[in-house]
Amino acid sequence: MRPPLRYYVLDRGDQLSVDLAEQFHTLAAQHHFEMDAESPNIVISIGGDGTMLHAFQTFIDRISDIAFVGVHTGHLGFYSDWKADELPELVELMSNSILSEDIPPRIVKYPLLELTIHKKSGTTSHIALNEFTLKGVDGTLVAQIDINDQLFEMFRGDGICISTPSGSTAYNKSLGGAMVHPTIEALQIAEIASINNRIYRTMGSPLLLPKHHHSDIYSRKDQRLLLTVDHKNFTIDDLISVSCQVSKQKISFARYRPYPFWNRVRSAFLEE
Ligand code: NAD
Repeated sequence: MRPPLRYYVLDRGDQLSVDLAEQFHTLAAQHHFEMDAESPNIVISIGGDGTMLHAFQTFIDRISDIAFVGVHTGHLGFYSDWKADELPELVELMSNSILSEDIPPRIVKYPLLELTIHKKSGTTSHIALNEFTLKGVDGTLVAQIDINDQLFEMFRGDGICISTPSGSTAYNKSLGGAMVHPTIEALQIAEIASINNRIYRTMGSPLLLPKHHHSDIYSRKDQRLLLTVDHKNFTIDDLISVSCQVSKQKISFARYRPYPFWNRVRSAFLEE
């Protein structure tokens, strides 16, 4: 028998998501799950992908102890396996899994992106589930990109997007980046509208860096910059550099039924 299920629910805040969260609490009480806001072992996100990004960032300090489950209340979310009307089935499967080690969930782990932002005013660290982006606020971003401490290129353009494998289907996809299966521990650097002419040149293709490689992006002019980490953004004017690498930590998802990555891609992008 597994240890008791300690859960927490985050919802998007719209009426359907709030109602479903209530329904979850009712069903969970019937199965003797414990609600635990401080140290849950399962976090249920009810809403969309943005809700899962929010749930991930909320529990960022405890992600090695948590498995996430997504319920979508709008169109199919990339991180959400369960539809609104499947909540009773989900809770039943969760309950069964406590009774026997042989019953799912299978824990699926996805790679994350680790960032260290060096500013004249100090250094901060972040972890992204989808991506990090760097953009110029007042005009062209001018930045030097190094790979493994060697100069790679001088970038001029709208910005740079560095994504995780599971984030490769989000912003990265809109930039022409490749979709990367999350068993591949890598980060992807994609350009956002680079300037390419006789004077300025960038590679122009998305780059996939393996685990243990790293990239440093140096600000190369006085410029206000917009930085995003998943759904959060902030503006700074004293950036020195950003160091990016595949994180040693991973996010865990509890799969109470199989949903292979390529089926997810197909459902999200190709099915009517
Ligand atoms: P949002 O509501 O604007 O969401 C944007 C869309 O991205 C939604 O349809 C969402 O379902 C989808 N999405 C998020 N993560 C995904 C993933 N891993 N795979 C496939 N689709 C995914 O904003 P939000 O809900 O706050 O989400 C923030 C995310 O929006 C960012 O992490 C970024 O990836 C994405 N975004 C995309 C673009 C673009 O495609 N041009 C631009 C900005 C941000």
